[in-house]
Amino acid sequence: MSKTVDYIIVGQGLAGTWIGFQLIKKGYSIMVVNHSSLSNSSWVAGGLYNPLLAKRQKLSYLAHEIYPHIESVYEEIETYINHSVLKAEPIQYIIESIEELNTWSVLCETEAYKPFVKMIDFVDIPSIDAPYGGVQIQHSGWVNIPELLQAFRVKLMAETAYLDEVFMQEDLLMNAEGVNYKGIKAKGIVYAQGTPTFHQDIIRLKPAKGEILRVNIPQLELPFIPQQGVFMLPLGDGNFKIGSTFEWKDLSDSTTEEGKEQLLKKWQNYYKGVFTITGQEAGVRPSSNDRRPILGALDQDNKSFVFNGLGSKGVALAPYFSLQLANFITEGTAVDKEVNLKRFKWM
Ligand SMILES: Cc1cc2nc3c(=O)[nH]c(=O)nc-3n(C[C@H](O)[C@H](O)[C@H](O)COP(=O)(O)OP(=O)(O)OC[C@H]3O[C@@H](n4cnc5c(N)ncnc54)[C@H](O)[C@@H]3O)c2cc1C
Repeated sequence: MSKTVDYIIVGQGLAGTWIGFQLIKKGYSIMVVNHSSLSNSSWVAGGLYNPLLAKRQKLSYLAHEIYPHIESVYEEIETYINHSVLKAEPIQYIIESIEELNTWSVLCETEAYKPFVKMIDFVDIPSIDAPYGGVQIQHSGWVNIPELLQAFRVKLMAETAYLDEVFMQEDLLMNAEGVNYKGIKAKGIVYAQGTPTFHQDIIRLKPAKGEILRVNIPQLELPFIPQQGVFMLPLGDGNFKIGSTFEWKDLSDSTTEEGKEQLLKKWQNYYKGVFTITGQEAGVRPSSNDRRPILGALDQDNKSFVFNGLGSKGVALAPYFSLQLANFITEGTAVDKEVNLKRFKWM
């Protein structure tokens, strides 16, 4: 193929989609090279965004900067793909003990937590056991990631900006003008590969496998997402996703009996009704050691860049940090020290 674009992007999970969108928004042309066979993290994910680490009663990273704006940033990409993917159905965290209830009552009154939590008497649903009530988490909800990725891909394909193949690093030529991948010339290249990154010698990832269950509960429709250890995401027609597990040793994307048992045990701590299991899926999150995303330039000449390390918070972190990376690539503005690729390099 002979084509000239501004940037080549390797990978089209959440990271590749968002950096692609930010560059397009700034008026740059892109070519995305992606093959889904290498990682299905974005396709398996629950897609929840949550400004709280509720179990630990802590705020998520950059909670105040990111979460109040999530709906409006997703609205922009929804307009571009002409498809609605964000569901502002709040997470309701089920309080587990009287001690936890006491701590939440205090936290709810603090300036830092006030915008995010509201104490509630848990809605009276007989199959959900919530004797201590719960907290409704404001600025939480979920994004249908497969629909987002698919709709963005359709847009790219319409512009002949999507190549469905495994990108091979040895096919990339670097020259004074930029890069050349099999006849596709560009100013630079962004690697958004998730766990199967080429740069394992540079990027210190600590991937975490996750599993989810799909269940059906006839006639149960919930306008919110119950959570306690695991979430119960309503997908409509009595279908739910139950997730997720965390596992750091087995990094395959095969489902396991242990994963299923772990999910069922945590879920049945609060869900007491009947259900049928309809599926089970697994994927590997591209997490970093200290749960920070990783972005920046790989070389001195600013021709190759990385966007990775989205971990378990891809939905919330991808829009915010893809904008930061796009500004860095196109205008040379600095990226935050905490997420700068330099910090993650093996010495
Ligand atoms: C079970 C589970 C539940 C989760 N739940 C949530 C949740 O509720 N909320 C949330 O925010 N996050 C969640 N996550 C995390 C979220 O999925 C990740 O943060 C996010 O998907 C990472 O996106 P990514 O684009 O970096 O990586 P990926 O999704 O892995 O995408 C990388 C893409 O690049 C492709 N690729 C790689 N190398 C090449 C190559 N050489 N050539 C061509 N293509 C290549 C891969 O095949 C893939 O398509 C969950 C993850 C799992 C596994």
